[in-house]
Amino acid sequence: MASESVKRDWSIKDFEVGRPLGKGKFGRVYVARETKTKYIVALKVIFKEQIEKYKLQHQLKREMAIQTSLLHPHVLRLYGWFHDAERIFLILEYAHGGELYGELQRSGHFSEQKAATYIASLTHALAYCHEKNVIHRDIKPENLLLDHEGRLKIADFGWSVESANKRRTMCGMLDYLAPEMVENRPHDYAVDNWTLGVLCYEFLYGSPPLRSRRQADTFRRIMKVDLAFPSTPHVSSEAKDLVTLLLVEGTLQKGLSCEDLGGILIV
Ligand code: ATP
Ligand code: MG
Repeated sequence: MASESVKRDWSIKDFEVGRPLGKGKFGRVYVARETKTKYIVALKVIFKEQIEKYKLQHQLKREMAIQTSLLHPHVLRLYGWFHDAERIFLILEYAHGGELYGELQRSGHFSEQKAATYIASLTHALAYCHEKNVIHRDIKPENLLLDHEGRLKIADFGWSVESANKRRTMCGMLDYLAPEMVENRPHDYAVDNWTLGVLCYEFLYGSPPLRSRRQADTFRRIMKVDLAFPSTPHVSSEAKDLVTLLLVEGTLQKGLSCEDLGGILIV
């Protein structure tokens, strides 16, 4: 499938389209089966009119180019794409387990073992992306999918950039934004590393560490790195140290990279 997708032109006739898997800002995602090989994929259908309306042609092209170039067991594959008069279709690896967010909501919070497994997968994937000069910038539980064996897959490279092209844009949800992004300073790899700390906390406690009702308060708390650990659920001091390391002392001051964190996390 992967090598074929480069060689030939796909069209909707090559697929039997099944049930919807989810809805994004600009279209829907369906499970689909390649007619000849019976290979199951996810088809993301995006309406050209929407993309043109919001002038997102360049961003979408970048998302597609970046995701095609990334080949890692924890990065969702983009096998190829095609279009017709109204729509653009992305042929994606199918994540049978759906959103990690759903699993977190069902279980409330994860055990340290489980959180460590996910954080380790994420760390390896981000280290790989960073090695290829790609910064995701929108890591959040909704954009983390699970395959049929529960393996984590980073999806949705809509906000990602190649690091040579550092930008001053505001993007992503405030909860997951690193201080330098909230301040609108140029940002780099540290953004994804900092987000690892937020996710690590969210996995262990069930909600992000710096959430406030008003966006202005979230903003202030992110700037102060105002961190508190509730007494329940019980979390080991080692896990709390890791979150603190990532958020408070972490990446921004010490330049700790995902590669370093991969070494710290032993699962
Ligand atoms: P948003 O920016 O609002 O997150 P989006 O337009 O980027 O949306 P996606 O996040 O790519 O769209 O997809 C929307 C939803 O569809 C996902 O949150 C997920 O539930 C489901 N989905 C997307 N891709 C897949 C896939 N490959 N396998 C299974 N489910 C998927
Ligand atoms: Mg998404």
